[in-house]
Amino acid sequence: MPSGSSTLMWFRKGLRIHDNPALEYASKGSNFVYPVFVIDPHYMKPDPNAFSPGSTRAGLNRIKFLLESLADLDLSLKKLGSKLLVLKGEPSQVLISCLKEWDVKRVCFEYDTDPYYQALDVKVKDFASSVGIEVFSPVSHTLFNPADIIQKNGGKPPLTYQSFLKVAGEPSWASSPLSISISSLPPVGDVGSCEISEVPTVEELGYGDVEQDEWTPFRGGESEALKSLRESIKDKEWIANFEKPKGDPSAFVKPATTVLSPYLKFGCLSSRYFFQCLQDVYRNVKKHTSPPVSLVGQLLWRDFFYTVAFGTPNFDQMKDNRICKQIPWNEDTELLAAWRDARTGYPWIDAIMVQLRKWGWMHHLARHCVACFLTRGDLFVHWEKGRDVFERLLIDSDWAINNGNWLWLSCSSFFYQYNRIYSPISFGKKYDPNGNYIRHFLPVLKDMPKEFIYEPWTAPLSVQTKAKCIIGRDYPKPVVSHDSASKECKRKLAEAYALNQKLNGQLTEEDLGNLK
Ligand code: FAD
Repeated sequence: MPSGSSTLMWFRKGLRIHDNPALEYASKGSNFVYPVFVIDPHYMKPDPNAFSPGSTRAGLNRIKFLLESLADLDLSLKKLGSKLLVLKGEPSQVLISCLKEWDVKRVCFEYDTDPYYQALDVKVKDFASSVGIEVFSPVSHTLFNPADIIQKNGGKPPLTYQSFLKVAGEPSWASSPLSISISSLPPVGDVGSCEISEVPTVEELGYGDVEQDEWTPFRGGESEALKSLRESIKDKEWIANFEKPKGDPSAFVKPATTVLSPYLKFGCLSSRYFFQCLQDVYRNVKKHTSPPVSLVGQLLWRDFFYTVAFGTPNFDQMKDNRICKQIPWNEDTELLAAWRDARTGYPWIDAIMVQLRKWGWMHHLARHCVACFLTRGDLFVHWEKGRDVFERLLIDSDWAINNGNWLWLSCSSFFYQYNRIYSPISFGKKYDPNGNYIRHFLPVLKDMPKEFIYEPWTAPLSVQTKAKCIIGRDYPKPVVSHDSASKECKRKLAEAYALNQKLNGQLTEEDLGNLK
């Protein structure tokens, strides 16, 4: 490379120093490295009309988590003799003007499979190739390269977890050491006329007047991610015996799972490093659980959804999505708002939705319950509507995983046992008979006796009065009766499935008639 050469390191996800092949490549052979993050109005611009504080696409908790992650990255870069350059605007335009201004010879960024980034990357790559800039864009967000798996599977993504495992096998890097530290970086060159800022605060982004009554307890950044990972793997027995379906979804003081998802989402934590740490624990214990229920199994679920999402056109919608059952969902805005705003009258469901809004994170089975309730369980509202609410409010909101799980929970794809519905009453009670989770997230019910905490509308008026919570006044009556609503949902699903089979040529008119 000629002397005076510059490299631009474009951070999007992958907000870390450890196991970051794009950064490692950028760190070698250049006189100057420009580490850049672009604040994208598409995700960050305040939307005063949104149903909760934040932008159109991201709730304020996730925006704050991202800014914390950037501040942490900036600190780490400073320790390496560099710093994070923050710019604002449409990312491909900003990038291209920086590439021109700084006479960059190489641009490095982690490969991203999300459609939004795929489209941006084409623009940046096209510009780079037109002016002879080298592009280095390695896959490091997932354990596997989704494109490799699809190719190994004959051009289509495997559609079951087991077939995915079979095709994927052991990751090629599994037993070789990952590059987990970079000792120094070349300095940042002259930034010319590009408008650079420090990592902004939420106030500086225009959220100064916004009222947020509770912030997520989870703090963003690679340092937090590694600390949290160390905490989790310290308990070798817990790691070795981890069985996802056995976790308690109502545990909130000490959640039953790692809560590493927000760090994996932004790439503050490398999934490959996490995988290797788990393998180290497994090597040092007598026996351990296995996929799909083990912790390594959870990381493989993540890669499974990334692979199917990458290989399925229109993965995020029902229309023109070849793996999605066509179901005549309703778009009832009142029922949707009741669910979104924790006003269904079912305390277990509402408490989970409050946790989503306040923390941006809930246990996997809690997510199951509310997703099932909104769609095939009770309200029969379109899964895309629920997906949008999760996409905005989760701090771990992830395009592939979120869509994949909504397809699953609504019995639109992957999972088809629509007769198995989560009860909004008895499911939570199994784990938390006293209703501590409900009392915490719905303080209006904190004095309700435990016999009624999951069904407060059945409490006699004298009990409601004593608990200072009159149903219909202080807390809503149920929006639907679970017994009749769930029966009706099953009937509609049976009909829709039959119609889907007919469309695929597997059922006759007569079979269809028998279902009615
Ligand atoms: P752990 O059990 O500790 O698992 C470790 C990691 O494995 C997680 O951090 C995550 O990256 C991955 N993982 C775990 N479960 C799954 C799964 N079912 N599918 C894919 N990857 C998994 N997870 C997201 O990261 N982002 C989302 O937007 C998201 N949306 C969801 C929507 C619905 C309707 C449902 C039912 C689940 C969703 N999940 C999503 C999956 C799962 O609930 C979370 O990954 C998990 O609860 C995160 O907590 P954890 O880090 O403690 O998980």
